[in-house]
Amino acid sequence: MPGTLPLRQFDLVISDIDGCLSPEASTPFDLEGLAGVRAFNDRAIERGDRPIVTVCSGRPQPFAEAMCRLLGNSVHPCVCENGAWVYHPGTNRYDLDPSITPAHLEACRALSAWARERFAANGVTEQPGKSASVTLYHPDTAFLTREVFPAVRAVFDVSAGGPFAVTMTWHYINCDLAHVNKGTGLDRMLAPLRLDRRRLAGIGDTPGDVHIARRVAFFACPANAHPSIREHAHYVSPHAEARGVLDILERLADGGAA
Ligand SMILES: [Mg+2]
Repeated sequence: MPGTLPLRQFDLVISDIDGCLSPEASTPFDLEGLAGVRAFNDRAIERGDRPIVTVCSGRPQPFAEAMCRLLGNSVHPCVCENGAWVYHPGTNRYDLDPSITPAHLEACRALSAWARERFAANGVTEQPGKSASVTLYHPDTAFLTREVFPAVRAVFDVSAGGPFAVTMTWHYINCDLAHVNKGTGLDRMLAPLRLDRRRLAGIGDTPGDVHIARRVAFFACPANAHPSIREHAHYVSPHAEARGVLDILERLADGGAA
């Protein structure tokens, strides 16, 4: 209708990447699903009638940057490396959390060297690309859980006097600086945007995404989400991963989140 102002309930959707936009396993992207998210963002930027989708992820900055480019988010910043970095696709600016000191970065290097010395011979590797945290991987997740996880925790976790929160994901051990998480990253990302919480929506699939859920008015999960994060969801899609995200976005565009 001529003269009608575009209506949108939300300004921004903050989505986790692994298990949401991309498969949890190291399998190909669902290009059709992602193309749907891209079309959603293109229309959001062109017409302003729906929120723009950005990401909040434990993935290193290059992966998050690539995902923003793929999804056509050239407007809003995103959170990478579980909050250590805020990346601005519009200006290509990278902001490391200012509370991360040279001593913290040295602790990351020390943990990395320790893990290599202790477990490299057993086939444990470190995910490349992270600069203010350490992520360990082994193809046998049971070995990682049983042998490596308790050993790392016993030395580096805050419970042992270390500077890290050592946690287990589906396939990895994440060693994040204990004072940095998706929540602190989101606070840094959101502060300059001055968006009302009531105008924010979020999508996540694992317990760490509770930091997204706490900062948005509407939180949703794909079908594959962990039971403990579903408890925070206003809506759980019957579809998994990228198809689930697309389903959630379609509800947001239709005003079905009300
Ligand atoms: Mg995830």
